[in-house]
Amino acid sequence: MTTPRIFDRRGLLLLLGLLLGLGFFATTLFGYFVSRQAIRDAIAGQDLPLTASNIYSEIQKDLVRPVLISSTMAHDTFLRDWVVKGEGDVGALSRYLREMKDRYSAFSSFFVSDKSANYYTGEGILKRVTPSEPRDAWYYRVRQMKPDYEINVDPDLANADALTIFINYRVFDFSGHYIGATGVGLTVDAVRHLIAEYQRRFQRTIYFVDSGGQVVLFGNQTGRPPDLRNSPGLGPLVDRILQDKAGSYQYTADGDNHILNVNYLPELKWYLFVEQNEEQALVGIRRTLHINLAISLAVTLVVLLLTHLVLENYQRRIEAMASTDELTGLLNRHAFAILIDKLLAEYRRAPQPLAMLLADLDNFKEINDRHGHAAGDAVLQGVAALLLGSLRESDIAVRWGGEEFLLVLNGCDQPEAQRIAETLRDKVASTPIAYNGKQIAVTISVGVSQYDGAEAPDQSVNRADKALYAAKSAGRNRVEVAAR
Ligand code: GH3
Ligand code: MG
Ligand code: MG
Repeated sequence: MTTPRIFDRRGLLLLLGLLLGLGFFATTLFGYFVSRQAIRDAIAGQDLPLTASNIYSEIQKDLVRPVLISSTMAHDTFLRDWVVKGEGDVGALSRYLREMKDRYSAFSSFFVSDKSANYYTGEGILKRVTPSEPRDAWYYRVRQMKPDYEINVDPDLANADALTIFINYRVFDFSGHYIGATGVGLTVDAVRHLIAEYQRRFQRTIYFVDSGGQVVLFGNQTGRPPDLRNSPGLGPLVDRILQDKAGSYQYTADGDNHILNVNYLPELKWYLFVEQNEEQALVGIRRTLHINLAISLAVTLVVLLLTHLVLENYQRRIEAMASTDELTGLLNRHAFAILIDKLLAEYRRAPQPLAMLLADLDNFKEINDRHGHAAGDAVLQGVAALLLGSLRESDIAVRWGGEEFLLVLNGCDQPEAQRIAETLRDKVASTPIAYNGKQIAVTISVGVSQYDGAEAPDQSVNRADKALYAAKSAGRNRVEVAAR
């Protein structure tokens, strides 16, 4: 015999799961986005500017001083006098160049005369520059240029072709005519090491860009084309950046977000680019996000499982309490109403005979009167147990009234129901109930009806009740079948 389900847990569990999941998901995600924004702000507002200013001050130490030295040389009256007077004593100029180089620990020092095309160094005349030699192109550029000086990165012929930053300063005679170029060269190794070290330590990319958007100096490989405008993601921003001179930017390349800090170094006429791949900075909080999501999921599942188990347990007990009769353990009329509805729904889908047996204890008042109310209760329990023991799983046994029992037999036609009713009647009659050492004999009368396929369940019960009344009238301890 089944207990009717009066409540469906799935909806509640689904709602609970949804609420918990959404709540966890929202807070976890919110936390992640707040952290990500904080990291972004820190990178753009502190980390990159700090790196830039550190590098800038190193660069100033390494580059600005040579510019000043070159300026001093270009305005030196000795040098200009020596040229104006016809470039006579080469030894004197070499001594001068050597002196400047050593005093300021530059890597090399030079003067190129426009008149003789001689390239002078601390060791004397190195060569003559000619317009047809590509390596001398720098000189003819300097000769034509408007500004007083340029900074140029080139291999140094005088120093085994080491990559060198040259400060090329234009020199004028005392009446303002161009007479040549002078300056010092220094290796970029120190700067490069510094940049490389920063790149390694902070996983930042650091490089210098000239006003034409060309990458002029970088630590290790930047992986960028020399012309920054061809750089994926960054290219379209270059013109605006060069115009802004300084600022913070973001761009996306290869699916990664990059944060970029740019500073213009007026002394060098270069832009310092410091950038960070945000994905690398976010690896940590990404992992935290995934762990948090996994924990949230696990907690949600555990809560759902526990809720399911607790609900299941309570529900079963409540449903049993709500649907069974306390004294006999049979279903009550409320449970019958639910179950008969299900049964009839099934009947409509696939009709099969349905029989109702209404059984009433004969002369029960007498039993109460003679043996007491407690004995009456015991008899009710005993008869209920007998009935229940004779039924199949699909049948329904209800305590219909005080000492009336309704049995619904599923898949049972009228002759079969009548047979079963006889068997039950006989069983009760031949099984006295033991109570307090006494054997209390009891009989039942039974009315049988078969569901006609159209009537309301109550009508079917009523017909069984009429048959029961007939059985009582005919002398009790009898089975009667209802008229159709
Ligand atoms: P008959 O059905 O054969 O016509 O006679 P009866 O004596 O059984 O008639 P009736 O239906 O009038 O009496 C039923 C009695 O059952 C009345 C009531 O006091 C008693 N009764 C009802 N419920 C309980 C119960 O839970 N426990 C006990 N002990 N008695 C009950
Ligand atoms: Mg009775
Ligand atoms: Mg009665």
